[in-house]
Amino acid sequence: MKMIENIEKYAKENRIPIMLPDGIEYLCNYIKENNIKKILEIGTAIGYSAIKMASVNDNIYITTIEKDEKRYKEAIKNINILNLDKRINVLLKDALEIELKDKYDLIFIDASKGHNIDFFNKFKNNLNDNGVIITDNLSFHGLVENESLAITKNQKGIVKKIKLFIDFLDNNQEFDTNYIEIGDKISISKRSDKNEKNISNT
Ligand code: SAH
Ligand code: MG
Repeated sequence: MKMIENIEKYAKENRIPIMLPDGIEYLCNYIKENNIKKILEIGTAIGYSAIKMASVNDNIYITTIEKDEKRYKEAIKNINILNLDKRINVLLKDALEIELKDKYDLIFIDASKGHNIDFFNKFKNNLNDNGVIITDNLSFHGLVENESLAITKNQKGIVKKIKLFIDFLDNNQEFDTNYIEIGDKISISKRSDKNEKNISNT
Protein backbone atom coordinates (compact mmCIF):
# COMPACT_ATOMS: atom_id res chain seq x y z
CA MET A 1 0.00 0.00 0.00
CA LYS A 2 1.55 3.26 -1.20
CA MET A 3 -0.13 5.31 1.50
CA ILE A 4 1.42 3.24 4.29
CA GLU A 5 4.86 3.82 2.78
CA ASN A 6 4.18 7.56 2.73
CA ILE A 7 3.25 7.48 6.42
CA GLU A 8 6.41 5.53 7.25
CA LYS A 9 8.47 8.07 5.30
CA TYR A 10 6.82 11.02 7.05
CA ALA A 11 7.49 9.36 10.43
CA LYS A 12 11.14 8.87 9.61
CA GLU A 13 11.63 12.42 8.32
CA ASN A 14 9.89 13.94 11.32
CA ARG A 15 11.41 11.58 13.88
CA ILE A 16 8.06 10.23 15.03
CA PRO A 17 8.52 6.95 16.93
CA ILE A 18 5.99 4.70 15.20
CA MET A 19 6.06 0.97 15.92
CA LEU A 20 8.87 -1.07 14.42
CA PRO A 21 7.89 -3.40 11.52
CA ASP A 22 8.14 -6.71 13.42
CA GLY A 23 6.36 -5.20 16.45
CA ILE A 24 3.34 -4.00 14.47
CA GLU A 25 3.25 -7.27 12.53
CA TYR A 26 3.14 -9.23 15.78
CA LEU A 27 0.41 -6.97 17.14
CA CYS A 28 -1.73 -7.35 14.02
CA ASN A 29 -1.37 -11.15 14.11
CA TYR A 30 -2.33 -11.14 17.78
CA ILE A 31 -5.47 -9.13 16.97
CA LYS A 32 -6.38 -11.55 14.18
CA GLU A 33 -5.75 -14.73 16.15
CA ASN A 34 -7.57 -13.56 19.26
CA ASN A 35 -10.53 -12.15 17.35
CA ILE A 36 -10.10 -8.72 18.91
CA LYS A 37 -12.72 -6.19 17.83
CA LYS A 38 -12.64 -3.16 20.07
CA ILE A 39 -9.33 -1.43 20.66
CA LEU A 40 -8.24 1.54 22.74
CA GLU A 41 -4.87 3.01 21.82
CA ILE A 42 -2.99 5.51 23.97
CA GLY A 43 -0.65 7.45 21.68
CA THR A 44 -1.88 7.84 18.08
CA ALA A 45 1.02 9.89 16.73
CA ILE A 46 0.16 10.14 12.99
CA GLY A 47 -2.17 7.13 12.93
CA TYR A 48 0.26 4.50 11.69
CA SER A 49 -0.40 1.72 14.23
CA ALA A 50 -4.15 2.48 14.35
CA ILE A 51 -4.36 2.21 10.55
CA LYS A 52 -2.39 -1.04 10.57
CA MET A 53 -4.59 -2.55 13.30
CA ALA A 54 -7.82 -1.40 11.62
CA SER A 55 -6.64 -3.00 8.39
CA VAL A 56 -6.62 -6.50 9.94
CA ASN A 57 -10.36 -6.81 9.20
CA ASP A 58 -13.53 -4.72 8.84
CA ASN A 59 -14.95 -5.65 12.26
CA ILE A 60 -12.29 -3.76 14.16
CA TYR A 61 -13.14 -0.45 15.82
CA ILE A 62 -10.47 1.72 17.38
CA THR A 63 -10.51 4.67 19.72
CA THR A 64 -7.11 6.34 19.87
CA ILE A 65 -5.88 9.27 21.95
CA GLU A 66 -3.27 11.87 20.99
CA LYS A 67 -2.41 15.05 22.87
CA ASP A 68 -0.21 16.73 20.23
CA GLU A 69 -2.36 18.78 17.86
CA LYS A 70 -0.03 18.64 14.86
CA ARG A 71 0.21 14.84 15.04
CA TYR A 72 -3.53 14.56 15.65
CA LYS A 73 -4.23 16.55 12.47
CA GLU A 74 -1.81 14.42 10.47
CA ALA A 75 -3.48 11.26 11.83
CA ILE A 76 -6.95 12.54 10.87
CA LYS A 77 -5.67 13.33 7.38
CA ASN A 78 -4.14 9.86 6.91
CA ILE A 79 -7.20 8.06 8.30
CA ASN A 80 -9.56 10.02 6.03
CA ILE A 81 -7.49 9.32 2.93
CA LEU A 82 -7.74 5.60 3.71
CA ASN A 83 -11.49 5.83 4.40
CA LEU A 84 -11.05 4.46 7.89
CA ASP A 85 -12.76 7.36 9.69
CA LYS A 86 -15.85 5.23 10.45
CA ARG A 87 -13.72 2.73 12.35
CA ILE A 88 -10.97 4.85 13.86
CA ASN A 89 -11.99 7.58 16.28
CA VAL A 90 -9.12 9.92 17.18
CA LEU A 91 -9.44 12.02 20.32
CA LEU A 92 -7.29 15.13 20.77
CA LYS A 93 -6.77 14.87 24.54
CA ASP A 94 -4.26 14.14 27.24
CA ALA A 95 -4.94 10.49 28.05
CA LEU A 96 -4.20 11.15 31.72
CA GLU A 97 -7.16 13.52 31.86
CA ILE A 98 -9.75 11.73 29.77
CA GLU A 99 -12.69 9.71 31.16
CA LEU A 100 -13.91 6.86 28.98
CA LYS A 101 -16.91 4.66 29.77
CA ASP A 102 -16.58 1.98 27.08
CA LYS A 103 -14.89 -1.40 27.50
CA TYR A 104 -12.29 -2.72 25.09
CA ASP A 105 -10.82 -6.11 24.13
CA LEU A 106 -7.36 -4.62 23.75
CA ILE A 107 -5.75 -1.58 25.30
CA PHE A 108 -2.54 -0.67 23.54
CA ILE A 109 -0.29 1.68 25.52
CA ASP A 110 2.24 3.47 23.31
CA ALA A 111 2.53 7.01 24.66
CA SER A 112 4.96 8.66 27.09
CA LYS A 113 7.15 5.90 28.49
CA GLY A 114 7.32 7.51 31.92
CA HIS A 115 3.58 7.25 32.50
CA ASN A 116 2.95 3.59 31.77
CA ILE A 117 1.92 2.75 35.36
CA ASP A 118 -0.57 5.63 35.36
CA PHE A 119 -2.01 4.62 32.00
CA PHE A 120 -2.22 0.97 33.06
CA ASN A 121 -4.00 1.70 36.35
CA LYS A 122 -6.34 4.19 34.77
CA PHE A 123 -7.42 2.23 31.71
CA LYS A 124 -7.60 -1.29 33.23
CA ASN A 125 -11.12 -0.16 34.24
CA ASN A 126 -11.95 0.02 30.53
CA LEU A 127 -10.86 -3.54 29.86
CA ASN A 128 -13.30 -6.37 29.10
CA ASP A 129 -13.05 -9.38 31.47
CA ASN A 130 -11.00 -11.34 28.94
CA GLY A 131 -9.24 -8.29 27.61
CA VAL A 132 -5.54 -7.67 27.26
CA ILE A 133 -3.27 -4.70 27.86
CA ILE A 134 -0.26 -4.50 25.56
CA THR A 135 2.48 -1.95 26.24
CA ASP A 136 5.22 -0.96 23.80
CA ASN A 137 8.84 0.19 24.27
CA LEU A 138 9.97 -1.83 27.29
CA SER A 139 13.52 -2.03 25.96
CA PHE A 140 13.96 1.61 24.90
CA HIS A 141 16.38 0.60 22.15
CA GLY A 142 18.31 -1.69 24.52
CA LEU A 143 18.95 0.97 27.17
CA VAL A 144 16.81 -0.84 29.75
CA GLU A 145 18.90 -4.02 29.44
CA ASN A 146 22.17 -2.09 29.25
CA GLU A 147 21.84 0.97 31.42
CA SER A 148 25.36 2.22 30.67
CA LEU A 149 24.09 3.14 27.18
CA ALA A 150 21.82 5.75 28.76
CA ILE A 151 23.81 8.95 28.58
CA THR A 152 21.57 11.97 29.00
CA LYS A 153 19.63 12.75 32.15
CA ASN A 154 16.43 12.34 30.16
CA GLN A 155 17.43 8.86 28.93
CA LYS A 156 18.41 7.79 32.45
CA GLY A 157 15.06 9.01 33.76
CA ILE A 158 13.14 7.06 31.15
CA VAL A 159 15.15 3.87 31.79
CA LYS A 160 14.39 4.17 35.50
CA LYS A 161 10.68 4.57 34.84
CA ILE A 162 10.52 1.64 32.43
CA LYS A 163 12.22 -0.52 35.07
CA LEU A 164 9.66 0.61 37.62
CA PHE A 165 6.90 -0.32 35.18
CA ILE A 166 8.38 -3.81 34.68
CA ASP A 167 8.56 -4.23 38.50
CA PHE A 168 4.97 -3.07 38.71
CA LEU A 169 3.90 -5.70 36.17
CA ASP A 170 5.99 -8.46 37.78
CA ASN A 171 4.44 -7.78 41.17
CA ASN A 172 0.90 -7.20 39.96
CA GLN A 173 -1.57 -9.56 41.69
CA GLU A 174 -4.39 -8.70 39.33
CA PHE A 175 -2.60 -9.27 36.01
CA ASP A 176 -0.23 -11.87 34.60
CA THR A 177 2.28 -10.54 32.10
CA ASN A 178 4.33 -12.06 29.30
CA TYR A 179 7.14 -10.18 27.62
CA ILE A 180 7.85 -10.51 23.92
CA GLU A 181 11.26 -9.53 22.56
CA ILE A 182 9.92 -8.05 19.38
CA GLY A 183 10.18 -4.52 18.02
CA ASP A 184 11.21 -2.43 21.03
CA LYS A 185 9.92 -5.22 23.37
CA ILE A 186 6.28 -5.40 24.40
CA SER A 187 4.38 -6.72 27.40
CA ILE A 188 1.08 -8.62 27.22
CA SER A 189 -0.97 -8.47 30.42
CA LYS A 190 -4.15 -10.41 31.17
CA ARG A 191 -6.26 -10.66 34.30
CA SER A 192 -4.89 -13.59 36.28
CA ASP A 193 -6.96 -16.76 36.90
CA LYS A 194 -6.12 -16.56 40.58
CA ASN A 195 -7.81 -13.22 40.70
CA GLU A 196 -10.93 -14.61 39.01
CA LYS A 197 -11.11 -17.40 41.59
CA ASN A 198 -10.79 -14.92 44.42
CA ILE A 199 -13.72 -13.01 43.06
CA SER A 200 -15.93 -16.09 42.59
CA ASN A 201 -15.14 -17.34 46.11
CA THR A 202 -16.31 -14.19 47.81
N1 SAH B 1 1.28 4.31 18.30
C1 SAH B 1 1.97 5.15 17.34
C2 SAH B 1 3.18 5.83 17.91
C3 SAH B 1 2.91 6.66 19.12
S1 SAH B 1 4.28 7.68 19.56
C4 SAH B 1 2.40 4.27 16.17
O1 SAH B 1 3.05 3.23 16.40
O2 SAH B 1 2.09 4.61 15.03
C5 SAH B 1 3.72 8.27 21.10
C6 SAH B 1 2.65 9.36 21.01
O3 SAH B 1 2.02 9.48 22.27
C7 SAH B 1 3.22 10.75 20.68
O4 SAH B 1 2.65 11.23 19.49
C8 SAH B 1 2.84 11.60 21.87
O5 SAH B 1 2.44 12.91 21.54
C9 SAH B 1 1.65 10.83 22.46
N2 SAH B 1 1.43 11.03 23.89
C10 SAH B 1 2.36 11.04 24.87
N3 SAH B 1 1.77 11.22 26.07
C11 SAH B 1 0.44 11.31 25.83
C12 SAH B 1 -0.70 11.53 26.67
N4 SAH B 1 -0.57 11.69 27.99
N5 SAH B 1 -1.91 11.57 26.10
C13 SAH B 1 -2.05 11.44 24.75
N6 SAH B 1 -1.02 11.24 23.92
C14 SAH B 1 0.21 11.18 24.45
MG1 MG C 1 6.15 2.73 20.64
